[in-house]
Amino acid sequence: MDYVNGPGRNHLFVPGPVNIPDQVIRAMNRNNEDYRSPAIPALTKTLLEDVKKIFKTTTGTPFLIPTTGTGAWESALTNTLSPGDRTISFLIGQFSLLWIDQQQRLGFDVDVVESDWGQGANLDILASKLAADTAHTIKAVCIVHNETATGVTNHLAKVRKILDDYRHPALFLVDGVSSICALDFRMDEWGIDVALTGSQKALSLPTGMGIVCASPKALEASKTAKSVKVFFDWKDYLKFYRMGTYWPYTPSIHLLYGLRAALDLIFEEGLDNVIARHNRLATATRIAVDAWGLKNCTQKEEWFSDTVTAVVVPQYIDSSEIVRRAWKRYNLSLGLGLNKVAGKVFRIGHLGNLNELQLLGCLAGVEMVLKDVGYPIKLGSGVGAASAYLQNTTPVIASRI
Ligand SMILES: *Cc1c(COP(=O)(O)O)cnc(C)c1O
Repeated sequence: MDYVNGPGRNHLFVPGPVNIPDQVIRAMNRNNEDYRSPAIPALTKTLLEDVKKIFKTTTGTPFLIPTTGTGAWESALTNTLSPGDRTISFLIGQFSLLWIDQQQRLGFDVDVVESDWGQGANLDILASKLAADTAHTIKAVCIVHNETATGVTNHLAKVRKILDDYRHPALFLVDGVSSICALDFRMDEWGIDVALTGSQKALSLPTGMGIVCASPKALEASKTAKSVKVFFDWKDYLKFYRMGTYWPYTPSIHLLYGLRAALDLIFEEGLDNVIARHNRLATATRIAVDAWGLKNCTQKEEWFSDTVTAVVVPQYIDSSEIVRRAWKRYNLSLGLGLNKVAGKVFRIGHLGNLNELQLLGCLAGVEMVLKDVGYPIKLGSGVGAASAYLQNTTPVIASRI
């Protein structure tokens, strides 16, 4: 396995899984424990309270599930819907595509609203479909907040407004896997019924925990939803919540301790500061891409993502070669282009526990790789422009003021 070794640190800039802070690694470095002892329910109780803050909800009910983002999707869908239910779902990239595939395979009648990859969800079509649906056959609107494949962020407040404009009772289900804890996210204010994320994205934990948060309306819907589910059944969780033991089956206690440490770090920095930092690093990245003379895959500024930037390469370059070389030569991990944009874009993930100088290291690496593959770049052009911006905007570290 010596191919994994290299001097120094790997620069991990894929848009998930992301860097795990040392404090989290240390918190997880422990023996197994009896999860029926009083310690784990006590820990779980604080986590269930505190995790609501990252969703910005006071009325939601969170579930910490041993799964990935994909399982969190399934939990959201099967607990609130019945086979044959009509959903509206937006196809704008690989993750929204996979969620739609899951909805179809679970037996829902999916009304797919497709846009070019690089564009956001077409909300005009949503409005016309809701307007036409006076019989309320649409049971849920499903949307990926941040499409990780293209670096496109959808506007959830606008979706809420459209639902309200037509007084439509459809459930509002949101994949926040690459947004929650990194982008502005307001579950209660935006009337989101189920929001979900995965541990290995902005929370900067290892993979393996899905976090799903249900509104009172979603919990009500779960009482009559007929989709088959066993492992993901919220009723089992709720029963154990009432008993105060919290777990219907064995939790990953390592991830629970890790989540405690991850939340502590986020609250110490301040969630709003975390969100501002993501905006700063993303802006610096976009400034560098401009300076290189390359294009962002995202077609309009209003959709620019603060967690991932998909960079379009000229036709004579295979973006996969950029990713391969970055890893082999510079110990830099970049994201591949997926599906329709394979070979055409590479992705810089700038989410999770990350700082300005780490990002500049990544940008310097990208410049060298671009030169390696024959792109006429002036070394330092992007790094210079990005660092000029960061030098102006980086605040003093909150805990060191
Ligand atoms: C990563 C990701 C997923 C899938 O999560 P897994 O943990 O790989 O199952 C789903 N949606 C979005 C937006 C993602 O970025």
